Amino acid sequence: MITAVRAAQRLDSRGNPTVQVEVETSKGCFRALVPSGASTGKHEAVELRDSISNAYDGKGVETAVSNVENLIGPTLIKKFDVRTQLKDIDRCMRQLDGTPNKAGLGANAILGISMACARAGAAEAGVPLYEFLREEAGLSVHSGNTMAFQAFMIAPVGATTFAEAMRMGAEVYHRLKHVVAGKHGSAATGIGDEGRFAPPISMPEQALELLETAVAQCGYTNKIKYAIDPASSEFFDGRSYNLGLKQESGNLVSPVELAELYQRFISQYPIVLLEDPFAEDDWNSWSEFNKTCEIELVGDDLLVTNVERLKEAHEKKACNAMLLKMNQIGTVTEAIQAAKLAFSYGWSVFVSHRSGETTDDFIADLTVGLGAGDLKSGAPCRGERVVKYNRLMDIEAELRATGKPFQYAGNDFRLPRKPST
Ligand code: PEP
Ligand code: MG
Repeated sequence: MITAVRAAQRLDSRGNPTVQVEVETSKGCFRALVPSGASTGKHEAVELRDSISNAYDGKGVETAVSNVENLIGPTLIKKFDVRTQLKDIDRCMRQLDGTPNKAGLGANAILGISMACARAGAAEAGVPLYEFLREEAGLSVHSGNTMAFQAFMIAPVGATTFAEAMRMGAEVYHRLKHVVAGKHGSAATGIGDEGRFAPPISMPEQALELLETAVAQCGYTNKIKYAIDPASSEFFDGRSYNLGLKQESGNLVSPVELAELYQRFISQYPIVLLEDPFAEDDWNSWSEFNKTCEIELVGDDLLVTNVERLKEAHEKKACNAMLLKMNQIGTVTEAIQAAKLAFSYGWSVFVSHRSGETTDDFIADLTVGLGAGDLKSGAPCRGERVVKYNRLMDIEAELRATGKPFQYAGNDFRLPRKPST
């Protein structure tokens, strides 16, 4: 039973305000912190910001905090059993909000409570959070530069355990720093929001070359593959994609030319995943590309963790994987529903951090609880990124110690579960 709900304005990794929620039950006090995106999809649930106040440049979340304390909290106290009623709690908050996109109370207010209640539920049930989320999902687990493209990632698919994958990732990250410094000088090794390097390069091939060099020097060629998130909604004007968006000259390419560019990268480099290669409403390009796509084709801004968008994408055969960002939809229950729908389509689910993160490690448990094959939490650098990876290593050690069957997805990251589950 929830006995108290408190909220406070705290800071995220960018130094912007975010919502912290504490839910109290007889088992203790359970806390959650809500992340925030920068390259947000326009169909995402609404993050409430105090735009009328000057504090924090209008980015304060005092209204969302007040909504938790004065509106949502009192509705939930002594009404719900956190162990069995997370879905009811989330439904109640949605009804109270009364809008389709959580613009009433704020997805940041609602998600904070939802996450804290999941933690409280796990404690009530006496199980780790990942186990609680697995049961909640009802799934049985088997196993700042001039480049338009947002992110290049490495996928340590050749590892056999998560701890080994982490070691490989960290080694490549450190090696990459030397490679970048060697090519562009040590001033070029400053890092961005997600701990990533952002050297002064403008062509995607240059990023892939830097990665290939670092991976080869570490001896991980063939064991580490690549993933790209161009976040292309950011450089689409409704007709063309501007690959020179951050350069004075600009460089407009048609959707067909962009698709050809991706095909070329995929044929030249071991790329296993492409996220948001086309803009959120450029359905036609997605569907065309998906006809022959053999790698994981992930919808982020396209799907916004929203079942209605997933249904549309399935109908249009637009992609084969869903990115899962809890604050795109606003409750744990709806994020799980979206993941289950994706699994039912035979798609994979790629769990994700936000560029504005917090030290909350919830998404590590969510990844294991859902049996999702891949998670991105940025570079192994900056506490808010590393905390998720450390939690995954803890979970792996815990599962090993208790003798429970588990498996690092590795090369099976797209299908770590049987299609029927
Ligand atoms: C992304 O686009 O996948 C991402 C993590 O960035 P943001 O949180 O800014 O949407
Ligand atoms: Mg993305």
